[in-house]
Amino acid sequence: MSASEAAPAYKIIDHVYDTVVVGAGGSGLRATMGSAEAGLKTACITKVFPTRSHTVAAQGGIAASLCNNTPDHWTWHMYDTVKGSDWLGDQDAIEYMVREAPQAVYELEHAGVPFSRNADGTIYQRPFGGHMQNMGEGPPVQRTCAAADRTGHAMLHALYQQSLKYDADFFIEYFALDLIMVDGECRGVIAMCMEDGSIHRFKSHAVVLATGGYGRAYYTATSAHTCTGDGGGMVLRAGLPLQDMEFVQFHPTGIYGAGVLITEGARGEGGYLTNSEGERFMERYAPSAKDLASRDVVSRSMALEMREGRGVGPDGDHIYLHLDHIDAKVLAERLPGITESGKIFAGVDLTRQPLPVTPTVHYNMGGIPCNYHGEVVTLKDGNPEHVIPGLFAVGEAACVSVHGANRLGSNSLIDLVVFGRATGHRLKELIKPGTPHKPMPKDSADFALQRLDHFRFANGGSPTAEVRVEMQKTMQKHCAVFRDTALLDEGKDLLGKTYAKMQDIRVSDRSLIWNTDLIETLELDNLISQASVTMHSAANRKESRGAHAHEDFPDRNDANWMKHTVSWFDGWGGKGGEVKLDYRPVHEYTLSDEVEYIKPKARVY
Ligand SMILES: Cc1cc2nc3c(=O)[nH]c(=O)nc-3n(C[C@H](O)[C@H](O)[C@H](O)COP(=O)(O)OP(=O)(O)OC[C@H]3O[C@@H](n4cnc5c(N)ncnc54)[C@H](O)[C@@H]3O)c2cc1C
Repeated sequence: MSASEAAPAYKIIDHVYDTVVVGAGGSGLRATMGSAEAGLKTACITKVFPTRSHTVAAQGGIAASLCNNTPDHWTWHMYDTVKGSDWLGDQDAIEYMVREAPQAVYELEHAGVPFSRNADGTIYQRPFGGHMQNMGEGPPVQRTCAAADRTGHAMLHALYQQSLKYDADFFIEYFALDLIMVDGECRGVIAMCMEDGSIHRFKSHAVVLATGGYGRAYYTATSAHTCTGDGGGMVLRAGLPLQDMEFVQFHPTGIYGAGVLITEGARGEGGYLTNSEGERFMERYAPSAKDLASRDVVSRSMALEMREGRGVGPDGDHIYLHLDHIDAKVLAERLPGITESGKIFAGVDLTRQPLPVTPTVHYNMGGIPCNYHGEVVTLKDGNPEHVIPGLFAVGEAACVSVHGANRLGSNSLIDLVVFGRATGHRLKELIKPGTPHKPMPKDSADFALQRLDHFRFANGGSPTAEVRVEMQKTMQKHCAVFRDTALLDEGKDLLGKTYAKMQDIRVSDRSLIWNTDLIETLELDNLISQASVTMHSAANRKESRGAHAHEDFPDRNDANWMKHTVSWFDGWGGKGGEVKLDYRPVHEYTLSDEVEYIKPKARVY
């Protein structure tokens, strides 16, 4: 079929549900299960088979103050999360998460997650970066519950089974294209079945976006190739903002060259980092927590060591992670997966040799702004808490915000289940089963299908793969662990030029049967809008906080910058991709009076 042929009229297949969840990772499955359990007619749409969602790759574990291996308290977990967030997290939402965490973990246990055990039968918990006893005073706490180093895998299987038990309908290998927005409300979503190209219109009282992060905006990331932030792209196209996009987490231990993750659990079990002089340099940067300082701190320390000429390897561009001093039996029992990854991706026998590692893009603290019920919020007419009726977001796609400027390890998995569950509760409160749906305007699918056709018949001179690499390299170089004004300004220019090529994109496959060329182009469109707001938000924030280390403004500046960035992208329909920025206040209050607001102070580990 040639580009000159008129676009065919698509036949649209209609579906009616109370709730439609987009995404079947940990957060999407927990929300699906909650909605279905509440008696709501629930559909879950997912572009990959549920148990292949990126959550499957989560290794280290899930944080909750169960007190099985050391003393612990939810207020300690709260303190660590607030400090980890560099005071950008909303303390009401953080209180909610840490208080609900133990219950959420027990629910997973009862749902069938095979957690590793202590000798007395309780769930085994390991230390993780930034998690301490006694309101940050230390020593490290053992708070992270794990199923060896395959925690996400175990969780995803249990949650998928539970969702099926409650009779949710799954639309597997369906690609969600765009939201149906009417008068400022969300009324459903348009999706394409990738197997046969059929178009499906889901009419629903609620759409829950659980589409995961957008790590693939960068050249090297620990996240799966499917982590393209499709939910965030849909939200930006709906004229709604994303929040705190400048905060991108680099995990200290991605395998050098491959980008594959080595869990922080490796350092939790006693692993440590060394430079080319064999020095355990973390002792200099974080005298108390050392290798278990929070991720932004460890990644920056590694980057500084390499910059000052103490990196290992011929180019001095990586660092060693040592596990060779740990009993091989412990490695086999608690870290079997990474032992295998070391062999496959670095050719290293962990029991005898150090592993070459480097800070690697890992997690997006920013995302779709929402409250702790999962309701999407925006800044409207001066109201920073305006709720968008019918639209919800959970998981890495969302920004509640519990992670603020930097997420602690093992706090994402708990975020997924706590807020997936909270969203289920909210849906139960808001939707009575059998409520008639609001009318669907005639043109409800037009926007999604025009965009689909634009890319399906795109006949320009810039192949998708080329444009994508250009964007990824710009992000990798200009929006990395350390940033400065010159780098960021140049990054904005470069991304603008790359975005212009989206008008000149070339897709060579015109078919609708498993058209990966087309799907990757739609994903690229989602990625590039988020890359743009990330770069602009970073250039705009003139301070250093959490994962945002701005070399021209090395200090945190609470007086001017303790606020969330919200960013809009005006890019669809021939527009140039302008970014608009504004702010929402950080919630400087707790949910209950059982804990006091934790006041900002200097962040040392
Ligand atoms: C290698 C690795 C290890 C990690 N280890 C840990 C850990 O030990 N502890 C921890 O707390 N965190 C960890 N994290 C972070 C954590 O795993 C993720 O943040 C979390 O799993 C994200 O879950 P999610 O439900 O938001 O999305 P995902 O699991 O990424 O799932 C996204 C879902 O959305 C669907 N989707 C996306 N776009 C579309 C579309 N257009 N149409 C239809 N469906 C769509 C996908 O099919 C998928 O089902 C790790 C992350 C990585 C990358």
